[in-house]
Amino acid sequence: MRKEYDIIIAGAGIGGLALAYFLSKDGYKVLCVEKRPGAGGLARCFRAGKSHLEIYYHHIFRTDEYLYGLLSELGLEGQVEEKAASTGLYDGERLVPFSKPLNLMLLPHIGLRQKLNFGLKLLNLSVSRAGGELHDVTAVKWLRDSFGEEVSRFLWEPLLRSKFGEDYSDISAAWIFERIKKRFGSRKKDKSREVLAYIKGGTQVLIDKLMDEVRGKGGEFIFGSGIESFIMKNGACMGITAGGDEFHSSKTISTVAVPEFTDILNRSRTPHSGWKDDIEDYIKRCSRIKYKSVISLVLETRKELSGYYWVNIIDETVPFPVLVNQTFLVPPVEYGGNYITYVAQYVDTDSGLLDSSPEHVMEKMRPFLEKIVPDIKEKEIVRYHVFCDRYATPVYSTGFNDIVPDLKTPVKGLFMANNTQVYPESRNLDMTVRIARKVHNLITG
Ligand SMILES: Cc1cc2nc3c(=O)[nH]c(=O)nc-3n(C[C@H](O)[C@H](O)[C@H](O)COP(=O)(O)OP(=O)(O)OC[C@H]3O[C@@H](n4cnc5c(N)ncnc54)[C@H](O)[C@@H]3O)c2cc1C
Repeated sequence: MRKEYDIIIAGAGIGGLALAYFLSKDGYKVLCVEKRPGAGGLARCFRAGKSHLEIYYHHIFRTDEYLYGLLSELGLEGQVEEKAASTGLYDGERLVPFSKPLNLMLLPHIGLRQKLNFGLKLLNLSVSRAGGELHDVTAVKWLRDSFGEEVSRFLWEPLLRSKFGEDYSDISAAWIFERIKKRFGSRKKDKSREVLAYIKGGTQVLIDKLMDEVRGKGGEFIFGSGIESFIMKNGACMGITAGGDEFHSSKTISTVAVPEFTDILNRSRTPHSGWKDDIEDYIKRCSRIKYKSVISLVLETRKELSGYYWVNIIDETVPFPVLVNQTFLVPPVEYGGNYITYVAQYVDTDSGLLDSSPEHVMEKMRPFLEKIVPDIKEKEIVRYHVFCDRYATPVYSTGFNDIVPDLKTPVKGLFMANNTQVYPESRNLDMTVRIARKVHNLITG
């Protein structure tokens, strides 16, 4: 039997689900195909105690207008709780508070003039629109020019390095500009504290609601079966193959990472596909987009590891940039009485750590955890979990603006929407929903 749909969507992360929701609401018959056994992608959850918990920390900024818009449309706005966050800073020796302007003033590592300049710069940045001119400037150069060499070397560069490894020196200033602006924009009106929000019940609530809505409109899902190839005839995409079956549609939208997309595209070449040089050029251009992988260690402990929500680690011997205390946002009672801390380490996509056992990952990270939290034994690790994703974030380097793929591909009826097109913004749920809206508008005119 021929399986016919109006639109097929590759990937059931938040992008694929939002797109499936927008399109099925408009009356399109949608099929969403996901290679993992469940939905959510980078925002997927697992069970901890009586609650769902994201495999990677997921807070929301109060400026996340597209995400808030979707939550409100789905009747979930009441599920969002805001909280003034607290930030700490680990400088290789001590863990100190870093939430308020006064905390900066008390840091011994930076001179007074640079501290004052830092504060003023942040204030200016929140109203500046200069990011668009910075695509070809490196973040390091711009940070040094803007905040001074001392502040840049002490604060920003270690954070950049632990996220992007050796690629840190080529990260685009436009990207870091937007990222700092976003975080600063999420502060209280008087800028004294950052305010973050969390969806009660986790992103699982959003995932479940989107899936219910899609199914309610006749949409379908296939899980545990990755898309093997696109069915291509005379340069047009006519559907997909997955699990050995064919599924037909006049439009296919991929929300998978760029290397996964080009792998599928390369497998779609047949004598009848109408393969042309422009497809070859397109794949070549896409191959210039680099990614970083992520490994997440989620600790459940009897006692809290740090009193802060977010701890920036600016010690270059420590391989991870932050510790994130989930139980600052959600009380431990939701997680069986345990405190939850995320340790996320970014690595190259060919890192052997991605295929390591959870025990090996824990052993690798343990000495650094003991360095930051010397009494970690007394905090009692009840259990831990390890997760990883090979394509966690594109490397938003200088010149990225010139290689961001268009939503339309050279194959007729085939579209691509993912975390690359959010540039110069950083990838997050809000931008993912924005891109889903953009593709929806493109498809429906
Ligand atoms: C460590 C970390 C922390 C983060 N923290 C935050 C945060 O605090 N706040 C925030 O807003 N955002 C955060 N994010 C970002 C957010 O998770 C992502 O921007 C968002 O989830 C991306 O959604 P997506 O649907 O575009 O991509 P993905 O979630 O990557 O979805 C793509 C899907 O495609 C599937 N797929 C791949 N290949 C195939 C195939 N061949 N066939 C079928 N399916 C396939 C994948 O399995 C995946 O489910 C964080 C991300 C990470 C990694």
